[in-house]
Amino acid sequence: MIGRGLSNGKEMRLLIAGNWKMNGLAASLEEVRALLRGLEGRPAGVEVVVCPPATLVAKVAAEVQGKIGVGGQDCHPKPSGAYTGDVSAEMLRDAGASWTIVGHSERRQYHGETDDLVRSKAEAAWRAGLGVIICIGEIEAERLAGKEEAVVDRQLANSVPDGAATAKTAIAYEPVWAIGTGRTPTNDDIAKMHRHIRKVLVARFGKAGQGIEILYGGSVNPKNAKEILAQPEVGGALVGGASLKAADFLTIVAAAPA
Ligand code: PEP
Repeated sequence: MIGRGLSNGKEMRLLIAGNWKMNGLAASLEEVRALLRGLEGRPAGVEVVVCPPATLVAKVAAEVQGKIGVGGQDCHPKPSGAYTGDVSAEMLRDAGASWTIVGHSERRQYHGETDDLVRSKAEAAWRAGLGVIICIGEIEAERLAGKEEAVVDRQLANSVPDGAATAKTAIAYEPVWAIGTGRTPTNDDIAKMHRHIRKVLVARFGKAGQGIEILYGGSVNPKNAKEILAQPEVGGALVGGASLKAADFLTIVAAAPA
């Protein structure tokens, strides 16, 4: 079984989630079928989730029949109402999702999402019965100024609700400068930040803070996945571009440490 021993004696599964962003049409279901074929007989210790655009959540959920997870990429804090163009967590759940991403840097950057809004979206996800992947991470100028831990501390304090101690939650550490750029922090820098995040989660949530998966995201690909997933406190990955092709995504899933 692939998994991480926790101090409470339980095993934590690695979570590998694919974020398709604004990519994918009905024809992309062929990639989902290829993914399912490639995952047949895989060890049970890796939880695989695909987060297609909202238009495809129901189709992907119907295709995968619970064999892997399906997630949204965002949700509105309210369950319903006059919010043209938005999708609620309840709607994602109704369409067959079991997870949603919130606070992705592209939402923070292009839609002006604040930590407070991200926190309310995470609470909405739990209200609807979804697990939530809360994204955090510094921009390049903040890293160059040596402020990456301070930024992450602020985002953890303000984007992660108190309910994370008990509700299904993963934190995705995604340095913004690594997303879609082909650049990644060094393995040591990834390990350092993940240790730091674990320390902050344990300081706030006690033992429950040990059970929250900390995913790495930012230019994970079939070549670097093995090294990244082997770093201490890396509990999985949030994968953008390399999740669009089943063959690449399968190689990343197969790179999970045994
Ligand atoms: C992402 O969108 O969350 C992401 C990590 O993208 P990429 O893997 O393409 O850098």
